[in-house]
Amino acid sequence: MIYGGIEAGGTKFVCAVATAEGRVWDRVQFPTESPVPTVAQAVEFFRKHEGLTGIGIASFGPVDLAAGRITTTPKPGWRNFAIVDALREKLGVPVAFDTDVNGAALGEWKWGAAQGLDTFLYLTVGTGIGGGAMVGGKLVHGLHHPEMGHIRPPHDGSFAGVCPYHGDCLEGLACGKAMEERWGKPAGELPADHPAWKEEARLLACGLVNWICTLSPKIIVIGGGVMKQAALFPMMRANVETMLNGYVPIPEIVPPALGDDAGVLGAVALCL
Ligand code: ZN
Repeated sequence: MIYGGIEAGGTKFVCAVATAEGRVWDRVQFPTESPVPTVAQAVEFFRKHEGLTGIGIASFGPVDLAAGRITTTPKPGWRNFAIVDALREKLGVPVAFDTDVNGAALGEWKWGAAQGLDTFLYLTVGTGIGGGAMVGGKLVHGLHHPEMGHIRPPHDGSFAGVCPYHGDCLEGLACGKAMEERWGKPAGELPADHPAWKEEARLLACGLVNWICTLSPKIIVIGGGVMKQAALFPMMRANVETMLNGYVPIPEIVPPALGDDAGVLGAVALCL
């Protein structure tokens, strides 16, 4: 039996089929265009694989989990798009659905850095900033779902931020798009000693301190394109230590053990 997963990101879609043990058999990725051609490409990929038991979609958001749709995204064409129905009708298999970060958290719990832990946090810092939390063995859902990237860090006001809803929330100040706008170059092109990274580490540490104090995670796993700058990890850690000032223990803060497959394997884990 094989299981399908879609990491539906704001920039790219990654589709994979895998075994119940998380071994990827085949995968494809393509840019996220408008909904109809993007879904058609995913359908074409899954139709090549016989014996598909179901698929999981780990989606950018915000999402309405009960209705299976993406809701208030600023991404053109995707607002209120019923992605679950679109794929279920075309493929005729059950479809599981959650946020991209909840999916990735589940993948890291099943096969990655958070195995055996009942309370931990998965974060992504890339196109946007988001977090998926498992607390007491369950992924946190609620009235809606957590949108951890939209908390408010203190800052000096010299940059207004890019979040279309809030301006200077954490995502608005520290996501990849914010870094590019603020420093004039994509994050991937900024050298490790650029002052951008000092401020990025400070902003992300503000978020980490808030989540450490509210959720008490046993480990924090951080993925996403901006985190490819490995120098960020020790800089964030140092900021967290200074801000917490010895008040509570600090968990390990690590990259995803599943690497670039964390997202799509998380979607497969949702399917399982
Ligand atoms: Zn925001």
